[in-house]
Amino acid sequence: MNPLNTSVLLIYTGGTIGMIENAATGALENFNFEQLQKYIPELQKFNFPIDTYQFDPPMDSSDMEPDMWRKLVRIIHDNYNRYHGFVILHGTDTMAYTASALSFMLEGLDKPVILTGSQLPIGVLRTDGKENLMTSIEIAIARNKEGRALVPEVCIFFENHLMRGNRTTKMNAENFNAFRSFNYPVLAEAGIHIKYNNVQIHGNGEERELKPHYLLDTNIVVLKLFPGIQENVIATILGIEGLKAVVLETYGSGNAPRKEWFIRRLCQASERGIVIVNVTQCSAGMVEMERYETGYQLLQAGVVSGYDSTTESAVTKLMFLLGHGYTPDEVRDRMNRSIAGEITL
Ligand code: ASP
Repeated sequence: MNPLNTSVLLIYTGGTIGMIENAATGALENFNFEQLQKYIPELQKFNFPIDTYQFDPPMDSSDMEPDMWRKLVRIIHDNYNRYHGFVILHGTDTMAYTASALSFMLEGLDKPVILTGSQLPIGVLRTDGKENLMTSIEIAIARNKEGRALVPEVCIFFENHLMRGNRTTKMNAENFNAFRSFNYPVLAEAGIHIKYNNVQIHGNGEERELKPHYLLDTNIVVLKLFPGIQENVIATILGIEGLKAVVLETYGSGNAPRKEWFIRRLCQASERGIVIVNVTQCSAGMVEMERYETGYQLLQAGVVSGYDSTTESAVTKLMFLLGHGYTPDEVRDRMNRSIAGEITL
């Protein structure tokens, strides 16, 4: 019986949530999904079908690759009409990358895709996994009076907060509160009730058609500046054969050294067609290259603003745009536009 006329597909990729301790080494290792269900008998209390798809073998998310993102997009696309929502269990280490990538790859999404996981394995007494999983399932089926999904976005749910996936960063390796969305308000907060922040959620109320994308180009590098960075380091990185884009992690509101060689190297790379995107090393706030001389010169070197983007979002957006064969100028232009709510303009 399915009185709520709803259903969820639970996709288990791996991660701490489904790990147990190896008795000999003490290291955490994956176990399979049947065992996960054994530890969460509460799953059976939902009075609607929850089907599962398991990655075999389950993976630590440090091994995540764009091919796995393609696999997730294919699973969601193939099952799109059969389920009202999707919950992806995923390791926390690269969850923000996967959520960002999926937000670009699932164009026209009008159903919830909620990623979650945990800091402690599900078999541990104080696990945060149960709460995260149960609430994610509730969010995945939440609909308004017209029957439309309340949150038709790719999100991360963690420790009571629902966040837009491409706005999140893992910022704590210890606390249950592992993720933050520094530059965008949370989409919902779970207490006794789940309170949805409807004005911040995009796309609810609209009817859209899912258009899955699979093309990604990984010829990208993240270059983090630090005082004392050497010219040969910059030159070697910008000279990598086949390199198409750089996410340049700068200081403060998008500032970088004023050294002549530094600006010249960036200028030359831009002229060779390498797209350079300026993202701040700060957790919160926005790149404003016009603000200081140290930022302004980057503009003149052809560097484009990453606005308030996370590094995870800038990397995956570049993979997505380059994968679709846009010219460097077209990529630069699209970096200045929001595709899936990833930047504030
Ligand atoms: N190393 C694990 C992973 O990302 C950590 C976690 O699940 O939180 O798969």
